[in-house]
Amino acid sequence: MQFAEEATSQATAAIAEAERSVFWLDNPKRPDPEPSLDRDIDADLVIVGGGFTGLWTALLAHDVDPDRDIVLIERTRIADGATGRNGGFVAASLTHGFGNGLSRWPDELPTLLELGQQNLEDIETFVKLNGIDCDFRRAGEIDVAVADHQVDELRETVEAMNAYGLDVEFLDQDAMRRSIHSPSYLAGLRDSRSVALVDPARLAWGLLETAKLRGIRVFENTEITDLEDHHDRVALQANQHTITAQRAVLATNAFPSLVPAVRHRVVPVYDYVLMTEPLSAAQWDSIGWHAREGLSDSGNQFHYYRPTDDGRILWGGYDAVYHRGNGFGPEFENDDDSYARLATHFFQTFPQLSGLRFSHAWGGAIDTCSRFTAFWGTEAGGKVAYVAGFTGLGVGASRFAGQTLLDLLDGHDTTRTRLEMVQSQPMPFPPEPLRSLGIKWTTTSLHRADTHGGKRNLWLRLLDRMGLGFDS
Ligand SMILES: Cc1cc2nc3c(=O)[nH]c(=O)nc-3n(C[C@H](O)[C@H](O)[C@H](O)COP(=O)(O)OP(=O)(O)OC[C@H]3O[C@@H](n4cnc5c(N)ncnc54)[C@H](O)[C@@H]3O)c2cc1C
Repeated sequence: MQFAEEATSQATAAIAEAERSVFWLDNPKRPDPEPSLDRDIDADLVIVGGGFTGLWTALLAHDVDPDRDIVLIERTRIADGATGRNGGFVAASLTHGFGNGLSRWPDELPTLLELGQQNLEDIETFVKLNGIDCDFRRAGEIDVAVADHQVDELRETVEAMNAYGLDVEFLDQDAMRRSIHSPSYLAGLRDSRSVALVDPARLAWGLLETAKLRGIRVFENTEITDLEDHHDRVALQANQHTITAQRAVLATNAFPSLVPAVRHRVVPVYDYVLMTEPLSAAQWDSIGWHAREGLSDSGNQFHYYRPTDDGRILWGGYDAVYHRGNGFGPEFENDDDSYARLATHFFQTFPQLSGLRFSHAWGGAIDTCSRFTAFWGTEAGGKVAYVAGFTGLGVGASRFAGQTLLDLLDGHDTTRTRLEMVQSQPMPFPPEPLRSLGIKWTTTSLHRADTHGGKRNLWLRLLDRMGLGFDS
């Protein structure tokens, strides 16, 4: 079934009372703010950005050398960026999914799969060892076909993934609907091994707590506005103070980068999310979903959805909104049209939940790049390393990104730094107005493909041939 475009009055009523705020951050467990920078300081390593990438990098740097003096700087609050706003899918995939990895790096895919799976295992071990209370569950994920052409695509993907030893399972319509009761389901691909679910804000706060216990200094409400190369050190400006350091990491994701070259390779794309109120036992019975997996549908424009530990459903995705000129800021974090569309699609998927309300609605920026996976680089003679471009699948990959950043900064030759994925960078986006026009035409074409049996038009086929695209 394809999703209708018009918001129904039922959907409008369901979102009418929703708070325009991030459910995960709206939690009494949110820690008090760390101090902001109020003097000049010096450090061995300074990390800019208090999301998953910055937090993991700080912790991993401490693992490598517990004597290293590490400072983490965050513009607002820890987890205020994508880290506190996401769906909480922790995927082993480092390549924005199997298909993207296979099409770009077929030769190194076995290594990428192994590194990604190990990364997921290491995240789980870290959470357990440090007693981080973040509802981390190896729940798995089911990719659902909701249009006829997607059924065969899923079948082919199962074959291809199993050829790489990934042990995924094809579910036909009966098996899919027996497990989760939706009239829109036509088939599914169950991956039980390589996806976990987490409360992302509680994970980030747990990482913060662990970092502080290890002596890592954290400053919040401190924005780095300038970065200079001072021969053997770098100097960063913030709050009219200077931080000098031997090495610096930039983990600023979709935010305007301090490295101009990154700005051409990343576009901020806004993605929106709804959270329901808790479902009653009878409502849960009406949809089944006893294994409480993460779910996503398999169109180009896809929804992702998952249960929470207090019995709600998070429902997000579909629209991926780019604003001309890399538009970025709080003014783009709410979009009532997207919320209405999401709510409509929710009730088309689960009509038996009619009457359920949404308690929260929010949006966040995804750092989309033209190859959909993170890319790395160095500046200032190797004293500064950066990563960006996760394109909506960075919760798990951020830890791998941190390890790679440290390899690069420390000049180590490792399995990670030898990867073509790490050594290469995505094609930049063209300047405006071509950038806006190209993205608009691509999203229109993707929507058309979803509603016309998956057929990709000339433009999409051209982009495919060039290894370019637009995704969230
Ligand atoms: C709505 C949404 C849903 C998503 N769902 C998923 C999902 O289910 N699974 C998944 O794997 N991925 C998902 N993602 C993507 C994922 O959240 C990100 O890839 C990941 O959190 C990136 O972490 P990060 O630390 O690199 O970036 P961020 O969390 O954005 O952190 C960057 C930080 O840098 C700070 N900063 C920026 N500039 C400066 C400066 N000059 N000085 C100081 N600080 C600065 C920012 O304030 C911010 O806190 C989703 C993203 C969104 C927006």
